[in-house]
Amino acid sequence: MKIIDILKMHDKGVSFEFFPPKTESGMDSLVSTVKILKAYKPLYASMTYGAIGSDQNKTKEATYKLIEEKDLTVMPHLTCVGASADTIKNLLHEYRQNGIENIMALRGDPPAGTINFDFKSQALCYAKDLVKYIKGLDHFCIGVAVYPEGHIETKSLEEDIEYTKQKIDAGAHFAVTQMFFDNAHFYNFLDRADKKGIKIPILPGIFPLTDIDKLKKFCLVSRTTIPKKIENEMARFRHRPEDMEKAGREITINQCRDLIKHGHKRLHFFTFNKANTIKNILKGIS
Ligand code: FAD
Repeated sequence: MKIIDILKMHDKGVSFEFFPPKTESGMDSLVSTVKILKAYKPLYASMTYGAIGSDQNKTKEATYKLIEEKDLTVMPHLTCVGASADTIKNLLHEYRQNGIENIMALRGDPPAGTINFDFKSQALCYAKDLVKYIKGLDHFCIGVAVYPEGHIETKSLEEDIEYTKQKIDAGAHFAVTQMFFDNAHFYNFLDRADKKGIKIPILPGIFPLTDIDKLKKFCLVSRTTIPKKIENEMARFRHRPEDMEKAGREITINQCRDLIKHGHKRLHFFTFNKANTIKNILKGIS
């Protein structure tokens, strides 16, 4: 089923993002995780696409594995950076043949450590070019990524929302946000989007807080800020990982409660393939 149709029918619910495991045992463990999380009747599940240089076929394998699960709409992510037009065309054709109806269309990042990567030399330069291409196939429902604090390469929030609008106008049906830890960023982004005439559903991306030091590394490369209060609250348990996780869980639960209170009842979780972390958060917000 197309995710946009699922979203039209449900004004509340959760969706789960997984990453494709590298090994067979990782795949078994992913399937177990999905079986557990299926109890929450997710709106859909998505599978990330590896960066250039990684085995991008793993996304396909993991996607096919998950569609064996009954009653689960699975959406693979696809990035256009580093991919030839033929690779993208063939992959989308194969997905279509295998009953996939939804694609998360992304530009992706250049290989780590690359300076001044020439995006313009790519077959498809920006996510909006991929969206336009997929839209032209007239088969898929298309999701895109949006950035409450602005994408790291943009100079201003005005520039960010302008490019976001272009990407959505190219044919995106819904969007999922980058992680954020101060809901004000999300609410302000929604205001900017509304003023710009963006009307598609935008799901908040929830990053379960577990380890402040790992999180700081993620945030450095994604222009996501961590409020000092959250950093301090977690950092005091630096030598007690279980307590840090507990503190992080409470913060994430409060973040979700605030979103729900403000009417955002559809939450997208970056699961990191960990069933228990997500289960505990969902228990806390139910
Ligand atoms: P774009 O929308 O193309 O934007 C990239 C940059 O180009 C932005 O700064 C934008 O403002 C700018 N831009 C856009 N149009 C123009 C223009 N016309 N002129 C000048 N500048 C322009 N990465 C992966 O590798 N695999 C994944 O599975 C994956 N999943 C993700 C899921 C979510 C929910 C999110 C938020 C991100 C995900 N990413 C993933 C990361 C993503 O690939 C990176 O953030 C990447 O840097 C940007 O991708 P994009 O699709 O947002 O690109």
